[in-house]
Amino acid sequence: MAILICGGAGYIGSNVNKLLSQQGYQTIVFDNLVYGHRELVKWGEFVEGDLNDYNAIDAVFKRWKIDAVFHFAAYAYVGESVKEPAKYYQNNVTCTLNLLEAMRTNGCNRIVFSSTCATYGVPSRVPITEDMPQNPINPYGATKLMVERIFKDYAVAYGLEFAVLRYFNAAGADPDGEIGEWHIPETHLIPLVLEAAGGKRSSVKVFGTDYPTRDGTCIRDYIHVYDLADAHLRALRYLEKGNPSDFFNLGNTLGTSVLEVIEAVKKVTGRSFEVEYCARRPGDPAELVGDSAKAQRILGWKPRYPQIEEIVSHAWKWYCKLAKD
Ligand code: UDP
Repeated sequence: MAILICGGAGYIGSNVNKLLSQQGYQTIVFDNLVYGHRELVKWGEFVEGDLNDYNAIDAVFKRWKIDAVFHFAAYAYVGESVKEPAKYYQNNVTCTLNLLEAMRTNGCNRIVFSSTCATYGVPSRVPITEDMPQNPINPYGATKLMVERIFKDYAVAYGLEFAVLRYFNAAGADPDGEIGEWHIPETHLIPLVLEAAGGKRSSVKVFGTDYPTRDGTCIRDYIHVYDLADAHLRALRYLEKGNPSDFFNLGNTLGTSVLEVIEAVKKVTGRSFEVEYCARRPGDPAELVGDSAKAQRILGWKPRYPQIEEIVSHAWKWYCKLAKD
């Protein structure tokens, strides 16, 4: 069974590559290395290429008999997507159309796709269930929702089989410490707080202290990258068994505030650092927490590392390794 992992040199894709390889799948990573890192591709074959280049992706399908595709290749900086929507629609939507065309031409019809809680926009209630309205408030979320829609139409017309996984806040690192989060630039809360704990930055900023939450800071649902990888494997097996295409939230249903993340980092690292209280960051909903009962029921998925301290401790181990190398 050969599995193509588009964007497999990135944070989540590399963790999925590890798990699939451990489970005996032959993996082929296709990545343009714009945001991915060659060092994170430690398993399977690697092809450097861009989904914008139809011939490059078509050649992968001609060289290997691909049974299923995992598609992580996307730009994912929300703020940048507001400033440069063209870049996001081009990369996240047009490149996905190229991938789907190459799949169709070469007789591959199974895909597991990285979608996001950003497709829901500002939810009317939490925890968010899959049937709630999807009204994204930024171009990044809009691109992911467009792809979801394209899948539905391709399923009807061409028999595409898909599992769409809507992640909440991916966090943590491979529990063995081999791979982890490595974004340049880094904008995510947990790695930034770890950088403050590690002395790489002088302080950490808290964006907004006047939200209608228990401590005034934003609440997010941090989900361990291992648990995300595990859900991908289960989604693949679900499709392999001939089950219908579907959409699944992946979160812990445990909301953690920005201040609680900072406390967890202080506890895990034993370090203290300066905290700056700042204005809200535009476009941030107060609370995003996912209900994953559907994934638990249908995919048999259960997060192994739901606690924020465990998530932070694996991320800290990875941070220390990256800082040393
Ligand atoms: N955040 C923060 N300071 C930072 C980065 C993020 O207070 O330096 C907050 C951000 O406003 C949000 C939460 O941390 O409420 C998680 O942000 P992140 O960018 O990690 O993920 P997002 O929820 O935007 O996908």
